[in-house]
Amino acid sequence: TNPIFTGLPTTIFEVMSGLARETGAINLGQGFPDVDGPEEVRRAAAEALLAGPNQYPPMMGLPALRQAVAAINKRFYGLEVDWQTEVMVTSGATEALGDAILGLVRPGDEVVLIEPLYDSYLPIVRQAGGIAKPVRIAPPNWELDPDALAAAFSDRTKAILINTPMNPAGKVFSRAELELIAELCRKHDAVVIADEVYEHLVFDGRRHVSPMQLPGMRDRVVRIGSAGKTFSLTGWKVGYVTAAPALMEPIAKAHQFVTFTTPPALQTAVAHGLCFDDDYFDGFVAGLQAKRDRLSNGLSALGFSVLPSAGTYFIVTDTGPVRIDDDAEACLRMTREAGVAAVPVSAFYVSDPPKRFIRFCFSKRDEVLDEAVARLAAWI
Ligand code: PMP
Ligand code: GLN
Repeated sequence: TNPIFTGLPTTIFEVMSGLARETGAINLGQGFPDVDGPEEVRRAAAEALLAGPNQYPPMMGLPALRQAVAAINKRFYGLEVDWQTEVMVTSGATEALGDAILGLVRPGDEVVLIEPLYDSYLPIVRQAGGIAKPVRIAPPNWELDPDALAAAFSDRTKAILINTPMNPAGKVFSRAELELIAELCRKHDAVVIADEVYEHLVFDGRRHVSPMQLPGMRDRVVRIGSAGKTFSLTGWKVGYVTAAPALMEPIAKAHQFVTFTTPPALQTAVAHGLCFDDDYFDGFVAGLQAKRDRLSNGLSALGFSVLPSAGTYFIVTDTGPVRIDDDAEACLRMTREAGVAAVPVSAFYVSDPPKRFIRFCFSKRDEVLDEAVARLAAWI
């Protein structure tokens, strides 16, 4: 067995979803919407599936989708992107992250990670032979400490992996924080791998800023997006990478031996969706913001301290009225006894995690959110 993966537990998302299925609990754990995304996009996929061809698309992705991703880069971020050399389609952002890390990180290279971190990052960094340099940000404000960040960089730093908006924290990196990251990357000749899967879920009228937009960073950033998140179709696993040709080349080499390609009908449909006008994107974020507020208000009324969430599908609370100091234990009991599943935030740490925080996913129908709050109220 490969020592890197020996002893790794099953991902917390699968564990909590499995337990929710088994017990009939409302699943506010794993991040996925309980209503499928736009019918127009699903119909486009169905039509493409019937019309075909259903054979291998080009390794880099169908031109229509790569053009649509380039157009999104221009429309939302003012970035001029060559769809032929700078855009690649992947089977989900998960694959894109894997390709980027496997393509860019050599044994002994250091990779700066921000903790709490999404669970797929560390195993792939280790698989590539990279050395993780975690930098911790702490609740309730999740602010990046400039000195801690600077101390994590060295001449061996190959990359920093950031996620903005950030799962599970609901943090959106400030421009000042992104500037600091950019400055350190320029100083140490490192790249930013930017997991931007929640780019269209930034709340309260703020706009997403990609590190690729910052001065001097255009060719130093690998920008990763996900149609699963943007169109509430998480099971489709369609992702995309934008990067300068010199970065894209090794990433595409990794992609060709990881999945090689992604189902063509889904690519066609996502290309269609990315051309939607602003009404779609505005309605999408407004709908999720209302759900964030609905669940936050419901949980606050029960005595949970709800930390602010500026983006993503998630809010973080303390264990509050559950009155158990261990978040994992609190989530298990909540699932079994109250019939509401959530995810312990401790699962997002390399070691020595805080144990007082719970992540709830609010991308669910209003009646489901209300029922979850009612179940918790009856149990507490
Ligand atoms: N990154 C983050 C931060 C996520 O929350 C997720 C969750 N799905 C992913 C990547 C993976 O995206 P995909 O489903 O497109 O692989
Ligand atoms: N991104 C989702 C979450 O954070 C889960 C995706 C997965 O299960 N791998 O809940």
